[in-house]
Amino acid sequence: MPPTSSPLSPALVPFLIAPQFVERVWGSTDLRPWFDHTASPAHPIGEVWLTGDDCLASTGPCAGLSLAQVFAAHAPALLGPDAPEAASPLLLKVLFAQQKLSVQVHPDDAMAQHLGFPRGKTECWYALAAEPGAQVACGLLPGTTLDEIRTRIADGSLESRLQALPILPRELIYVDAGTVHAIWPGSVLLETQQNCDLTYRMFDYGRPRQLHVDLSLQATRFTTRAGQRQPIHLLDRELLVDEDYFRIERLSPNPAWTRDTLASTTGSSLAYLFVSEGSGLITASDSGFAPIPLTPRSVVALPASSPDFTIHNTGNLELIRITPHWPQNR
Ligand SMILES: [Zn+2]
Repeated sequence: MPPTSSPLSPALVPFLIAPQFVERVWGSTDLRPWFDHTASPAHPIGEVWLTGDDCLASTGPCAGLSLAQVFAAHAPALLGPDAPEAASPLLLKVLFAQQKLSVQVHPDDAMAQHLGFPRGKTECWYALAAEPGAQVACGLLPGTTLDEIRTRIADGSLESRLQALPILPRELIYVDAGTVHAIWPGSVLLETQQNCDLTYRMFDYGRPRQLHVDLSLQATRFTTRAGQRQPIHLLDRELLVDEDYFRIERLSPNPAWTRDTLASTTGSSLAYLFVSEGSGLITASDSGFAPIPLTPRSVVALPASSPDFTIHNTGNLELIRITPHWPQNR
């Protein structure tokens, strides 16, 4: 006899996730046409969380449950047999910066775990759109020292030691833990990051938010793998990044993708599909779930245990697939 009985099947069907709109001082009051959402000037929205722990499943047998609840109840069915941990591994967001974000750094796994947290934060930014000349800050200029960072935080000139990178539409920048970075206005970014809430602010342009100078200096690495990644064009998709913590690909489902053709490239693992353009439909091969409509900016979780399905392109559909990818040495 099984030790517990679940009201749900051990297999989980694909499901849509409802976004959460998160206020930030540097955010926007009008997210249209990206999301049909406006905010008052007193409460601008900076981040749209697509896979936050509090985001709700909106279709399927888990509809109405938060992602944290779905992971708590069904981690093996969601994540697959190779996952080293039983928690939500990745947080996806869309960022709408109208002002510069703080200059910040995130700890790596070792530092985060030393401080009692489950994991650090490596992230990357995929530009859904970018104005001509848009830039972000990613890394320190060569020769910068910790003493100099401390001095320049105090006198307000830290930005002069940051490496500015152009950010171009449809390009990706990888930002591993320990990289000093800042997002600047001029782009709409799909951010993928380890599901970790540790951000150490070095400098905040005089805004009254708390700084974490000592922790930020402790987390800073002068040599990192951060920077632009050129897409690798494969026969059936484009590989945008394949590094520790996540693999990100751009897919045009033409011909239709199925569970098996998707799995043939990543094995059996959780994946998220973000609809970057166009429209489509996911249907079950054996009527195991109701058809899932794909509309721009929607996100679908594809559980590792999902039954067979087909992704249909009903109008210029383009998908970004995000797959968690744990470091080999853990
Ligand atoms: Zn960051």
